Amino acid sequence: MPDLLVDIQKLNKKYTLTSGMFNSKNRVVDAVNDVNLKIFKGETLGLVGESGCGKSTLARLITRLEKPSSGFISFKGENINSYNSKSLKAYRRNVQLIFQDPYSSLNPRKSAAVIIKEPLTIHHIGDRNTRSKSVLELMAKVGLSAEQANRYPHEFSGGQRQRIGIARALILRPEMIVADEPVSALDVSIQAQILNLLKDLKQDFGLTYLFVSHDLNVIRHMSDRIAVMYLGQIVELAQNHDIYDYPLHPYTQMLLAAVPSCDRQKKGKKVAIKGEARIEGARGCNFKNRCLYKLPVCEEQQPVLKDINNKRFCACHLVSAKEEE
Ligand code: SF4
Repeated sequence: MPDLLVDIQKLNKKYTLTSGMFNSKNRVVDAVNDVNLKIFKGETLGLVGESGCGKSTLARLITRLEKPSSGFISFKGENINSYNSKSLKAYRRNVQLIFQDPYSSLNPRKSAAVIIKEPLTIHHIGDRNTRSKSVLELMAKVGLSAEQANRYPHEFSGGQRQRIGIARALILRPEMIVADEPVSALDVSIQAQILNLLKDLKQDFGLTYLFVSHDLNVIRHMSDRIAVMYLGQIVELAQNHDIYDYPLHPYTQMLLAAVPSCDRQKKGKKVAIKGEARIEGARGCNFKNRCLYKLPVCEEQQPVLKDINNKRFCACHLVSAKEEE
């Protein structure tokens, strides 16, 4: 059994939304709803779901860019929500984020070398010479040349900018990377290059990834295990091949049916996927209004993520009922 790196228990994040200009009404939305999730050292855990399902919020909670409304996230056995500014700084050295948009996440007034070097400066690691040496080594690792070190972000293509973002994330030699839609802003032709680079770097640096994407083809290419998220809740968690060969949850089945793919033999009807939000206090299954297999119990009780067998978890009354037969 690999070491447990991140342990998430009963995690909730609520936001208050105000609507209406004059008679303003507040609604509390459950962006992350009672999430339990474990990430093991050395694995790539893919987190997939449609836009607005809470996966980026979960990524921000794990990197402590936001604090939860309730629940726990522990990293190597320590509760990260109890960290003071000193221990949070040490945590950020260990857990780095790769952003979605390589266009807006780089400071346009700084050169590539300065951007990549910045974390070393912030953490007071090394001297001028060793920092410059580390930057050039890392630029080579991510496929950038030494001649590009003094160029500015606008002089790079989208893929090259994401390489700069990856180098910046790796310069502190973190144990874990949270990659939030790292290729969704790139041309399809460039996406495969960046995904393969991330795979190679995982081997070279002994990394653990939480890989967040709405794209099931990308998730399939990258992940060992996959967590499927719907309206703030993890609805299915399984090994990569189990999700694709034998999806259990009706939402996972619908997502897969909507994936344009050449190699899937069972091509389902294309399904229009649209976002919603779970309002605090809502009853029943989050997916009940879209589910083809709804049972009477689904109107009243929210299903919880249950252990179907050791490596497989699903939150669905239908699947639980079948298991009990
Ligand atoms: Fe469908 Fe019920 Fe399962 Fe929800 S719990 S996905 S409504 S069968």
